[in-house]
Amino acid sequence: MKLEGKVAIVTGPGKGGRGIGRSISVALGHAGADIVIAGSTLSNAELVADAVRTETGRRALALKADVSNAADVETLISTALQEYGRIDILVNNAGITRDTLLMRMSEEDWESVIDINLKGTFLCTKAVTRTMLKQKSGRIVNIASVIGIVGNAAQANYAASKGGMIAFTKSVAKELGPRNITANVVAPGFIHSAMTEVLKDELKDQILKQVPLGRLGNPEDISGLVVFLASDEASYITGQVISVDGGLYM
Ligand code: NAD
Repeated sequence: MKLEGKVAIVTGPGKGGRGIGRSISVALGHAGADIVIAGSTLSNAELVADAVRTETGRRALALKADVSNAADVETLISTALQEYGRIDILVNNAGITRDTLLMRMSEEDWESVIDINLKGTFLCTKAVTRTMLKQKSGRIVNIASVIGIVGNAAQANYAASKGGMIAFTKSVAKELGPRNITANVVAPGFIHSAMTEVLKDELKDQILKQVPLGRLGNPEDISGLVVFLASDEASYITGQVISVDGGLYM
């Protein structure tokens, strides 16, 4: 197993423990990694930790942490280190949307999305850096969005947060590359999850017309790439943005 002996932190288990975060955690577990899954509610994180244990036989720890809160993030990282002794992989997957037209977008709509998606990525990445520097290796995979590349009406806050994650990741890749730490972005298109469940059928039909592969993606379409980017096979790939979107953006 290509990630045997590695420890991965994944943020954002997904509503009901069945989002992209679940799929990534289970796939990393199947590849041999032990998993720390952190969510804003413990119950969702526990569902994912249970899935990792039962489906992959790996160790898994569920923690409650708000990624936009520096103290929570410090506790998350120190608890992971106490339990498993190392951190090899960080997947910044926690994210929210607060979609609305710019004219109606409140400061709260803006700040909550930037705080969780972008500041959360900054805080978690910063918090694992010392450990990865000591270990002389590390893998950071940030789950952005195709919207962070192309933009979208009624998603100015979300697009800015995800575009910011892309610029942040490239800067981290340049800064930490000399220390054998890679940082890459996975940019999903429209993927079946709680986040897209709320979209109206009309909008889904419109989206599908623009997707050459003619379907929404599944969380498993994302997790395979994350496992690859976390593995030794991807050791010469850094600062890249890889879209997994059925060809929506090309
Ligand atoms: P989801 O809503 O099921 O999962 C998001 C998770 O983030 C939830 O578990 C939520 O509790 C967690 N979270 C929210 N705020 C948090 C906080 N402050 N601290 C810790 N955790 C927090 O949706 P998903 O589709 O599984 O999304 C996962 C990631 O993929 C997100 O970053 C999202 O932006 C991105 N993404 C999703 C799609 C899609 O079509 N589903 C497309 C592009 C990008």
